Order: sequence, then C-alpha cells, then structure tokens
Amino acid sequence: MVAASETAHLQSLYADIKNEIDKAHAEKTYKYEVPIEDEQGGTVTVNGKTVVMLASNNYLGLANHPRVLKAAKEGLEKYGYGLASVRFICGTQPIHRKLEEAIAGFFGTEDAILHSSCFAANEAFFTALVSGDMGHKDYRDMIYSDQLNHASIIDGIRLSRIAVKTTDLRAYPHNDLKQLETWLEEDKDKNIRIRIIATDGVFSMEGDMAPLPKLYELSQKYNALLFVDESHATGALGKRGRGTPEEQGLHGKIDVISGTLGKALGGACGGFLTGKKVLIDYMRQKSRPYTFSNTLPPVVASASLEAIKMLEEDTSIVDKLHENTAYFRKQIKALGFKILEGIHPIVPVMVGEAAVAQDMSALMLEHGVYVRGLWYPVVPKGEARLRVQISAAHTREDLDKSLDAFSKAGKKLGVIT
Ligand code: PLP
Repeated sequence: MVAASETAHLQSLYADIKNEIDKAHAEKTYKYEVPIEDEQGGTVTVNGKTVVMLASNNYLGLANHPRVLKAAKEGLEKYGYGLASVRFICGTQPIHRKLEEAIAGFFGTEDAILHSSCFAANEAFFTALVSGDMGHKDYRDMIYSDQLNHASIIDGIRLSRIAVKTTDLRAYPHNDLKQLETWLEEDKDKNIRIRIIATDGVFSMEGDMAPLPKLYELSQKYNALLFVDESHATGALGKRGRGTPEEQGLHGKIDVISGTLGKALGGACGGFLTGKKVLIDYMRQKSRPYTFSNTLPPVVASASLEAIKMLEEDTSIVDKLHENTAYFRKQIKALGFKILEGIHPIVPVMVGEAAVAQDMSALMLEHGVYVRGLWYPVVPKGEARLRVQISAAHTREDLDKSLDAFSKAGKKLGVIT
C-alpha cells in the first residue's frame, strides 16, 4: 500500500478522480462486476446459487465445451503457454498460421491476420490503411461510418484521423442508406484516394443487422471498400454460422471482415481481420497492435481452431442456437413483452425507464436469471431494456425458467399485465 504522504503531490488529481467515481455512483452509471464462481455456460453460479446466464456472448456454448477445452490443453502441451514475443520476431507457430487459414476458409476470403482482440484489430485496420501515402499526393481519405458502430471502430477512426491529417469522417445515422448515398454521391468527383464504408454486421444494443446487400451495391458503385465487423454475427447468423454476409447472400463478397474469438468462437480472447491476401500482408507490415504487441497464446489459437472445425463439420450447434432464439422470441412476446424484432440471439426486451430496468434485472436475479439492463446514455432515453442473449448451451428448461422469471418480474413492476 502506498502511504498517503507519498502521494501528497497528486492530492488534487486523486480528489478529481474520486469525484468522477462518486458522480458515476450518484448517476447510477457506475459499472459493477458480478463474480461468476464457476465456468461460463448456459447456467452459472453467482453467490453460491445456480442462475440461467442470459448476458454472455457465448452464443454457441463453446466456452466450456469438452472439445474446445481438450484442444486448449493440447495447444498448451504442444506449444507451451506463450511466445514472449511479437509475431515477426519469434512469435509465430504453425498453429497461428493454421488458424489464420481456417478463418479465411470460414469466411470465404483469401487470408487473415490475428490480433490480440477485435478491438485491437479494428484500431489497427483504419490507422494502418490510411497511414502511408502509397505514392499519392494531395489526396484525402474518407470513412463513412454507421453512428452505432462499436467503440473500437470509432476509436480506430479517431486514431486514423489523429495519425494522419488526410482522413475525413462522415458518420451516418444508424442504417440510414439514404444519407450514406447522398454523401457518396456528393463526394464522387472529389480527389479521394480511399473510400471506406464501415459497419457492424450486427449491432450489439439492438441485435439488428446492417443492410449488407445495399451497402455492397453502394460500395461497388462508388469504389468504396466495405468493412464489416462480424463480432456478434459470427457463429450466430447464417445457416452455417458464417454471419451476416451468409445470412444476406453475400458470403465471400465483403472486402474486409473483422471479428473476435472472444464470443461465439470459444469466448476467450483474440481478434482478426480477413480479406484479400495483399491487404492482409500490408496489415502484417503496418498494423501497430500486430507489430508491437504479443502473439495470441497458442492455447487460444488451438481452441479457436477447434471451434471453427466444429462449425465446419455440421450445423447442429448453430441449428440449436437458432431454435432456442426462435422459441424465446416467440414466448417472450406471448407473455406481452415488447421486444425489438429480429432473428439474432440478442433479444432486447423493452421496459421503458432506467429505474424499471435496474429493478427488473435485480428481481430477475432473485428468480435465478442473470440478465443485464441497459439504459441511457447507452441506449436512447425512455428505451431502457433488458438485453437477453440466447445460447446454444441453454436447455428448454433454462429458457422456460427465464420466461417464468420475466413473467413474474414484469407483472410485479407493471411492465406487463
Ligand atoms: N466489435 C464489436 C462489434 C464488439 O461487440 C466487440 C466486443 O464487444 C468488439 C469489437 C471487441 O471485441 P474484443 O473483445 O475481441 O476486443
């Protein structure tokens, strides 16, 4: 413990920081972490009690799947715990290349590059792509980005605009294709070197999809590169779990896909970019989070590879997830709840005011169901919700128990009658 006298010179800084934290408590925006006492699964243990987990991105239930655990152990035994290096110095093992090839095969692209997270991959992509002049002079680069894109895309774009002063941004309202097309048309004859349209495939607060066919058409018409973050869609959408492009008939057609290994594909950590070989090779040279940050642990590479293999083998896990999602969506509506319509396992159950969402999530936990509430400023005022996330790991019993808890808590708080 640092003695108070040793930090006296920073007294005012620490007082300011404490004020900020107190403010977050007062505004009820302070983020609490609830310890889960066992492994991530369809059910988990919280405070010694088994509860149904409706708040994790473990869409395929692979976080504790025996095959994934076995592959992780094999990776550990064969390749050790870590490489203590970045990839290009002495941090590449066959398992890393195998995983990159498997990712490219899975998405129908030419090559892939691993990063320590999708956050890092997204930051890397925009910054690396616009960082050099590539022999051009007097040009601008333009990024068209959906306003609801993930924080990592937003930060990646911010960083790219700080790193070089030649990058511009047009942030279009969520899925507003009219606005996007108007801007693309306006910019058509300008001296723009690179045009990028950037979108999440699935938006995490709403569970809705980007309209990829139209975005694809616009990207072709206006010579733009289409970048899609498939973090929430991989494993969850499409008959074979290939995500939003598969769901919308564009498998293998997206220029660049970014994604995570930290959700459906095992749930540990790691991210990737996948697309044309030449672009991925460029990223290997230019991505700073790749060049200056450690290799993905072989344990994670081995387990993620197994997760992809499982999806390549058959559609049983994806089918189970789709079946569970359809069941829950239908039954929660039958109880009288308003949800945001869609097909994704993210099911936002709308409850109105923030206080209701807070009380309801606490009541649900008392009834043995772990689900988190979201409210302003994360979502618009008056649109507070409980964000349910369905998993292939849920049994029918888990889903029925959750529906029963929703019914009881919803009636008690007057959300349903
Ligand atoms: N992109 C999207 C759309 C996400 O939802 C997330 C995670 O929440 C990320 C990127 C970051 O992924 P990772 O946890 O691999 O950094």
